[in-house]
Amino acid sequence: MRCPVCGCCQDKVLDTRPIDEERSIRRRRECLNCQHRFTSYETVERGSITVCKRDNSREAFDRDKLMGGIKKACLKRPVTDDQMNDLVDSIESEFKTSMRVEVSTLEIGERVMAKLREIDDVAYIRFASVYREFPDADAFMDELNSLKQLKEEKAKKALKNK
Ligand SMILES: [Zn+2]
Repeated sequence: MRCPVCGCCQDKVLDTRPIDEERSIRRRRECLNCQHRFTSYETVERGSITVCKRDNSREAFDRDKLMGGIKKACLKRPVTDDQMNDLVDSIESEFKTSMRVEVSTLEIGERVMAKLREIDDVAYIRFASVYREFPDADAFMDELNSLKQLKEEKAKKALKNK
């Protein structure tokens, strides 16, 4: 570990002890170059993500719960378990690689919708209707229309590319 004083990378460990109820390890080190003594801490990488909900309460990211919502939306639709697993995996890893420790249900919902839209229209609309809590039929129709528009644009692009 690099010495904070001289920047030398060689040191010897003088003392190692668990702290914080064994959740972390504290090491006393001495720089071999300038003899400066410093401390380093080692902790287990936190893989858990906290989800901030609409009512501002927080809970640990629950993969099964998210999967449950997606499965409901995909009920009797031609979406395979693998596709659903991939979807949840990709969302989970996006958050993990971005080193985020907290995400909102809003963000999770938006990402799921963006991905479901690519997979299956009906599943997407079902998920969106639960998630967006459409206040009335108009809001629901707006969503349907924007989906339709998106599809038409895609179809046009596909035609152009032919
Ligand atoms: Zn040093």
